[in-house]
Amino acid sequence: MKLAARITQVSPSMTLAVAAKAKAMKAEGLDVCSFSAGEPDFGTPSHIKIAAEKALENGKTRYGPAAGEPPLREAIAHKLRTENGLDYQAANILVTNGGKQSLYNLMQVLLDPGDEVIIPAPYWVSYPEMVKLAGGKPVIVHTSAEQGFKMSPEQLRQAITPQTRLVVFNSPSNPTGMVYTSDEVRAIAQVVIEKDILVVSDEIYEKILYDGGEHLSIGSISPEIFERTIVSHGFAKAYSMTGWRLGYLAGPVELIQAATTLQSQSTSNVCTFAQYGAIAALQGPQDCVEEMCAAFAKRRTFMLERLAAIPGVTCPTPHGAFYVFPNISVAGLPSLEFCDQLLEKHQVATVPGIAFGADDCIRLSYATDLETIQKGLDRLEGFIRQHL
Ligand SMILES: *Cc1c(COP(=O)(O)O)cnc(C)c1O
Repeated sequence: MKLAARITQVSPSMTLAVAAKAKAMKAEGLDVCSFSAGEPDFGTPSHIKIAAEKALENGKTRYGPAAGEPPLREAIAHKLRTENGLDYQAANILVTNGGKQSLYNLMQVLLDPGDEVIIPAPYWVSYPEMVKLAGGKPVIVHTSAEQGFKMSPEQLRQAITPQTRLVVFNSPSNPTGMVYTSDEVRAIAQVVIEKDILVVSDEIYEKILYDGGEHLSIGSISPEIFERTIVSHGFAKAYSMTGWRLGYLAGPVELIQAATTLQSQSTSNVCTFAQYGAIAALQGPQDCVEEMCAAFAKRRTFMLERLAAIPGVTCPTPHGAFYVFPNISVAGLPSLEFCDQLLEKHQVATVPGIAFGADDCIRLSYATDLETIQKGLDRLEGFIRQHL
């Protein structure tokens, strides 16, 4: 069948594909250690589930406003004002089917053919594809492990052309786990203002930080950067709500209205009763987030120690999210081949760095139990030693 050019130039999500393959192998009875999941391995905290159940009971089962339930939009705006120093009201918020849809909507309403979007690599797999789906041109800025996988202000400045509309900023980052320091965030903001472009700040890992790190929302630095900032956020990672499909886009009213129009003609509102779970997530106790981070912190330490013991493998210490992104080039295999063999021969599922624009590396998620990490890293080490 002849399909639209729009879709034929887009790659399917490799992270979802690897996770599905690992699951299928497990279902066949194979003993698979999976590090592919981009999601917490915890259940959704019960007070959130109860709030959604109550909403379901109370008849929140109908169509709602496309932009989201008013109390949820209020609660999100309140969170962004009080926690992030971003001066948003409910009118600045669009509730979306996950952070994924918020970014998708943004690209669709912002980009015309030929418009350029700067994406620092290693990047989340969906950014370039979403830009392409909107007719835009992804401009990849490569960063190295030596620079902590962070784009320097000079690199950003050099990538900007008259066609540049937007730069994607993701801290803490998927796949590297790196976190920009406050000074580094300020330096990026300065270039955005100076060159008068827009920045979308994907803050979905905001709450998953280690070593006493603090999150600085780029839009909170000054009024000049605030008016050039769009925030993409969601509930999936901090509250273990990946399957709920709940995220939001925050930005200038005009942009939010345009994205709402798009959503009203595509998916309409996010599942009505699920939105009441999101309200509980924002307004309820936050110790669930701390407990999850404490568990991740332990696993991160263990994972880094084990990786450091494998000859030739290097891995910068991540300060956020739940991924490590080691360099495996010592094995002499392209990342796709490396991950395929590791999965086929040793039943260890990891995601090839090529999917994130970095072929020397692989991504391992430590959102899994310590036992799996132990066993999986034994196998990874054995595999790499065979290739030395
Ligand atoms: C998980 C993730 C998202 C969005 O996930 P949703 O499940 O759609 O909310 C967005 N950006 C990054 C970097 C992610 O890792």
